[in-house]
Amino acid sequence: MDKQRDFVLRTIEERGVKFVRLWFTDVVGTLKSVAIAPAEVEGAFTEGIGFDGSAIEGLSRTFESDLLAYPDPSTFQTLPWRGDIDPTGRMFCDITTPDGEPAVADPRNVLKRTLERAADRGFTFYTHPEIEFYLLRSSKFGEDGPIPVDSAGYFDNVPGGTAHDFRRRSVRMLEDLGISVEFSHHEAGPGQNEIDLRYADALTTADNIMTFRTVVKEVAIEQGVYATFMPKPFSQYPGSGMHTHLSLFEGDTNAFYEPGAQYQLSKIGRHFIAGLLRHANEISAVTNQFVNSYKRLWGGDEAPSFICWGHNNRSALVRVPLYKPNKGQSARVEYRAIDSAANPYLAFSLLLAAGMKGIEEGYELPPEAEDDVWALTDSERRALGYNPLPASLDHAIEYMEGSELVAETLGEQVYNYVLANKRAEWRDYRSQVTPFELQRNLEIL
Ligand code: GLU
Ligand code: MG
Repeated sequence: MDKQRDFVLRTIEERGVKFVRLWFTDVVGTLKSVAIAPAEVEGAFTEGIGFDGSAIEGLSRTFESDLLAYPDPSTFQTLPWRGDIDPTGRMFCDITTPDGEPAVADPRNVLKRTLERAADRGFTFYTHPEIEFYLLRSSKFGEDGPIPVDSAGYFDNVPGGTAHDFRRRSVRMLEDLGISVEFSHHEAGPGQNEIDLRYADALTTADNIMTFRTVVKEVAIEQGVYATFMPKPFSQYPGSGMHTHLSLFEGDTNAFYEPGAQYQLSKIGRHFIAGLLRHANEISAVTNQFVNSYKRLWGGDEAPSFICWGHNNRSALVRVPLYKPNKGQSARVEYRAIDSAANPYLAFSLLLAAGMKGIEEGYELPPEAEDDVWALTDSERRALGYNPLPASLDHAIEYMEGSELVAETLGEQVYNYVLANKRAEWRDYRSQVTPFELQRNLEIL
């Protein structure tokens, strides 16, 4: 820790960094930032930086509003879009109360706590997100709705297109920030893109997703376009999902890998999937937290609507990909419901908790879905036990209300806050996709 702190202080001096932004995330998943002068950084490491937590949604009740932000030196980077003149650095923070306790409502703390529980059982949790988003000409729109920047489709190479330059510039910036990108391509919708981050431990991935969203928004501004992570901005085009590949390691060994087993998937892997399936509805108000999220889940175009798993089945909620059958390290399961507007800290906490519950309780994995689940009739699906995901945020809230797993994982305060916040969201936006909903979502997501 001291070495990392020294490294940050030295870098600030050597590179002439003029501002250091302290970043953290609220319960909804909005990035918060406070800039401090370089001279304050040493003190911030040892004593934290005080702020009024009640100013931040969900972070603190008014009667316990004094909070401290402690920067995590291992996350120090300079922000490439700020340029080389008077560079700006940033660090993610852990939030504590004045007596040094981790703030219960800090999403980063919720994830750390959940990761520690898994670590007590010998597991490290890795995640790899495929992040989809739309590039629009503007966040404002007229009668015909928002206008995408191009009319290309899946994997299209658009000569001289905005999306091309856009991805190149974003990927470059992400690499400058120490975030490895595995894959980037045009997605199926017009103006829709996907960028996949290389797998990393879940805390790093969650930090990386927050950085990613900022980078993508910044590059869009630079190029005179608008980027949105709204789950379903167009009813006629695919939504933006954030399919996430999950794996558990025990030391250097992938706990999901068993050579010779079906899909090389170990017992632990099977129980983990069973946990994801059994708790999918309860965690949905977090993995799919907006009214608009359910328009994606029920809007077709490869978004999952039914709870089942399969191997190469893109209609299933959980998929077991087999890109490299003999490479144990790459064994993983893909959760396809989560969308690009989720709070990654809270969503990863619940995915891990659901999978761990499956392992602890030895849940049996139901038979895999081999058919295209969307093509079956309702009664066929019922007979096969493929239950629907919640039809709306309202249903998701009902599932969450009875969930011990969610309450325990998020902690009482976050759990209650999410419930209250989602109920309000539902009350305000339950009507169909209105221009108002669209405008509001485009402004904040
Ligand atoms: N955009 C689709 C979704 O909403 C996914 C398309 C894909 O398979 O990558 O989940
Ligand atoms: Mg995709």
